[in-house]
Amino acid sequence: MQHLDPEALSLFALDEPLDAEGTHHLRSCPECTAEVASLRRAVHAARTAPDTGWLEAPGANVWAGIHRSLGLGDAVAADPLGPDSRADTAPEAEAPGPGESGQPAGKPPASVTWLRRPVTWLAAAAAAVLIAAGVVVAVNRTAAPVTLASAQLEPLDRFTATGSATVTESGDGSRTIEVQLNKAEARGYQEVWLIAPDLTRLVSLGIMNSASGRFEVPAGLDLSSYPIVDVSDEPLDGNPAHSSISIVRGTLTS
Ligand SMILES: [Zn+2]
Repeated sequence: MQHLDPEALSLFALDEPLDAEGTHHLRSCPECTAEVASLRRAVHAARTAPDTGWLEAPGANVWAGIHRSLGLGDAVAADPLGPDSRADTAPEAEAPGPGESGQPAGKPPASVTWLRRPVTWLAAAAAAVLIAAGVVVAVNRTAAPVTLASAQLEPLDRFTATGSATVTESGDGSRTIEVQLNKAEARGYQEVWLIAPDLTRLVSLGIMNSASGRFEVPAGLDLSSYPIVDVSDEPLDGNPAHSSISIVRGTLTS
């Protein structure tokens, strides 16, 4: 069977008339009929305005935020979706051209006016980028801390406590060391230190009154230069230096 050529099918789908022979063929050919139906769906989709009823105009604060974030000039300070700008476009919408149908007379929905303003889409796109960036920042800030290093803490001299130290980094880059011992053995009070391998330089992280504690690592402190975690037994003598009595000690490894 000789089918209708694609051009004839396309024109017929666009409501151009078929000649008598073509009409006759179409009545008896399911394949060409199916092809026309498919083309008609495409034509219908192309001719139908998208449903924009769900679009809502954002508040003036949205544009103010975009304007501020992008550092735009005074000339575009006014909200492009504000009442003034809507009035600008209203006459165009109130006088539909001949053949334009589907819109009742009078002011169209704001969403239609919105569609016709490219700057609005630009603003909406910019807002979407800002929202996405905000989400990324928020996710980073709430991301689970990452473990940078840890150490097993072993007792020294007359002590028997053991434990561990773990350094984690939060999404904002701050570092925390968590020290856990199986018991608190100090006669005075426990103080937590980071010490250089040669044992001459040391940084006090703070007091630990129980068997565990969390301490901030000073920003910028190179842990590889101070890898030894030490918990000392400090007498209440008012001397801020290390007492030289260490309860446990261990070396951080990543
Ligand atoms: Zn056919």
